[in-house]
Amino acid sequence: MAEDIQQVKCLIIGSGPAGYTAAVYAARANMSPVLYTGPEPGGQLMITTDVENYPGYPEGIMGPQMMEDFRKQAERFGTDVRYELISKVDFTGPVHKAWTESGQEIHANSIIISTGASAKWLGLESEKRLTNKGVSACAVCDGFFFRGMETAIVGGGDTAAEEALYLSKLSPKVHMLVRRDELRASKIMQERVMNTKNIEIHWNTETEEILGEEEVEGVRIINNQTKETSVIPVKGFFVAIGHKPNTAIFKDWLDMDETGYIVTKGKTTKTNIKGVFASGDAQDNVYRQAVTAAGTGCMAALDAERYLTEEGVI
Ligand code: NAP
Repeated sequence: MAEDIQQVKCLIIGSGPAGYTAAVYAARANMSPVLYTGPEPGGQLMITTDVENYPGYPEGIMGPQMMEDFRKQAERFGTDVRYELISKVDFTGPVHKAWTESGQEIHANSIIISTGASAKWLGLESEKRLTNKGVSACAVCDGFFFRGMETAIVGGGDTAAEEALYLSKLSPKVHMLVRRDELRASKIMQERVMNTKNIEIHWNTETEEILGEEEVEGVRIINNQTKETSVIPVKGFFVAIGHKPNTAIFKDWLDMDETGYIVTKGKTTKTNIKGVFASGDAQDNVYRQAVTAAGTGCMAALDAERYLTEEGVI
């Protein structure tokens, strides 16, 4: 019913560094932002341990603590933070429409998308079947369950390196399964991994099958050069092979690249729809850092502020 529709000047979708930074700027610019956190309040930093590369924290900070601080700062200036999911949008008209999962309709003069990205999976049947029974995409969340047991982690990027190091403090042996003969991770992370005695890197190695009925009992791997297969007896199997953007609900409206990252115009956060802006990992497949996400969140709020001023909304 029309009287149930909520009118919002600035709707922010997502609650990682981009969303909360946009909220701080939007709230201080009198845009009365309403922020929907999405399914994982705080985003990917909630499943990270030490963040050592965010300027301003000389000793580093834990990811969840950092996101709590971001949220508090956004709320301090009056952001209305709502712990729900936006599940549908309609950008046909001048007023942009959005619906929460529980069916609340929202009409927004401007929208800032900061929905981030989610972990990718290998796509094996056994991986799906054993998810949460030893298979996980988050070592920091689930590594603790495998204390004293051997584990494996797939991937050769910074995430895999970081998670292998985390697991190495819990597992007697961590098997790092790398599909090429080199790591993609930064030099410093490569050095840390290589200097950790209980991490064994299996080069040119892919996963054929995760073994076990009720829980993970091992993994059958194959060397993609020699075609030799072997079984390693692990209880925990972690996947750290990158992320995909959480942009599916926008696909009918917004220009995206072939992998679903939202395309923004030039040096702005403008999308192809007037009044809709995109920030953070939802539109960035290159830098993907907390600090760059926060930077684009700031840009999106400034772009939205200019738009709302031009439209006479604020
Ligand atoms: P990434 O850099 O895209 O690395 C993904 C890794 O997974 C690569 O080694 C890739 O192999 C491998 N891979 C992809 N698909 C695979 C498959 N199907 N089977 C086996 N292996 C597969 O992803 P990321 O590590 O999540 O990092 C994303 C971004 O965040 C990067 O820019 C990274 O620097 C940044 N990051 C930074 C930090 C930090 O600074 N502390 C921490 C985490 C992440 P190939 O190399 O062969 O493609």
